[in-house]
Parts: sequence; structure tokens; C-alpha cells
Amino acid sequence: MPLYRDEGVVLRTYKLGEADRIIVLYTRGRGKVRAVAKGVRRTRSKFGSRLEPGSMVSLQLYEGRNLDIVTQAERTEPLAGLRADLDRYGRATIMLEAIDHVSTEGEANPALYKLLTGALRELDGSGNALVVPAFVTRLLALEGVQPQVDECVACGAAEGLVVLAVHEGGMLCRSCRRGGVAISDEARLALSALVAGRVRQVLESTSAQAGQELELVAARMIEQHIERRLQSSAVIYEQLG
Ligand SMILES: [Zn+2]
Repeated sequence: MPLYRDEGVVLRTYKLGEADRIIVLYTRGRGKVRAVAKGVRRTRSKFGSRLEPGSMVSLQLYEGRNLDIVTQAERTEPLAGLRADLDRYGRATIMLEAIDHVSTEGEANPALYKLLTGALRELDGSGNALVVPAFVTRLLALEGVQPQVDECVACGAAEGLVVLAVHEGGMLCRSCRRGGVAISDEARLALSALVAGRVRQVLESTSAQAGQELELVAARMIEQHIERRLQSSAVIYEQLG
């Protein structure tokens, strides 16, 4: 069996049999990888605690026919701030789930890997609530989707933009408003800056109030995107079947 090395982020893990665990990783070189960590649930396992969701690890694996097998795993960064704080950890979990949903096994995407590791480092260091909205906006851009935040998606007006209608792909003005999440001007301008790639400015200058609004909006946007992906893959499977 061929042996290989890679680095990656643990997205999630689940039990396999009595003592083993399946580790789902997002790796730099191979995209999503599903691998077995043998004996990891025994108390004296040498790498059990290193393979928790959110861990950044350097790995050695055997390439198996169905599942690869982890033979070595070392943390590359401690991420102690992230592991010690439930709020930070909860935010990291949203990002790990999003990557799990949009990534495919065996398909490397260096930009996506860089986005995930950069966002985890930022969250570990600052705990900034804007990290998830910044991450989601960039992730959607990599997926070819951007919310329209500077004009009403229905009539094109640039003034009086009051709600973000996630299903419609952007802002609606006061006259066109139907459903959607009410968002303040500050939150909308911050989202516009994120779409334009001015991430550092948004992380450093957005109020806590607008940050909360954007966290809610980001959660809706990623849910909507994942739902749409699941629906389109269901349609493809139906056509194949
Ligand atoms: Zn309008």
C-alpha cells in the first residue's frame, strides 16, 4: 500500500467498531479525505486527542482501497484559544461543516484550504465574531455565488435597502420588501466590504451590533447555499437513476 504525507484540518469524526474512528479531513493536497484512525478510542492511543474537529495536523497515511489509514498525526498549531472557548469553538464548527458540505473527496482546492486555515487562525487569536461572515462571503465567492448588496435585486434601486432576502440573492428595498432579514446600513456596508474583499477593515472596524447581524445573515447564506447544492445533486441522482 502506498504511503503519503499531507497536512489537513479535521472536519469531523465518527465511531467505527469498538476502538476505531473515521476521521474526515480537509487536506491541502487531496481535498476531503476520509481515513481510519485505528485504536484511537483506547485510552493509550498515541494520537486520539490530536484528531479532534478543528485540529490542524500533519499526517502520514496509507492509501487503502476504500479508506486511507492514519499512521501518524502531529498538531501543526496548538489553537489553544479555539479549544478553550465554547463561542470560538462553536464558530469554528460552522466553518468545518460548511467545508464538509462544499468539498469533494480527492479534489484539492488550495484556495479553500487557505481560507479555512486562515479563518481558524484568526478565530483562535481574536475570537472576532466577524470571522464567520468573512469566511462565508469568501467561500460563496469561491463557489461562484455572491450576494448583491449594493442594489435591490428586484428593481435595482441603490437607496432604501432594508432587508437581505437570502433566497433571492441579495438586498431588497423598502418598496420591494417581501420577507428577508432586516439589516442595518452599517451591517450592509460591512457585508459589501466583505464581498469586495476588504476583510481586515471589516474585522477591525465593525460594531458588535452589526457583527451580530452579520453572523445571523452568514448562517442563513451558508444554509441556503448548502440546501441548494443538496437539491441540485438530488436532481442529478434522479436523472442518473
Ligand atoms: Zn426594489
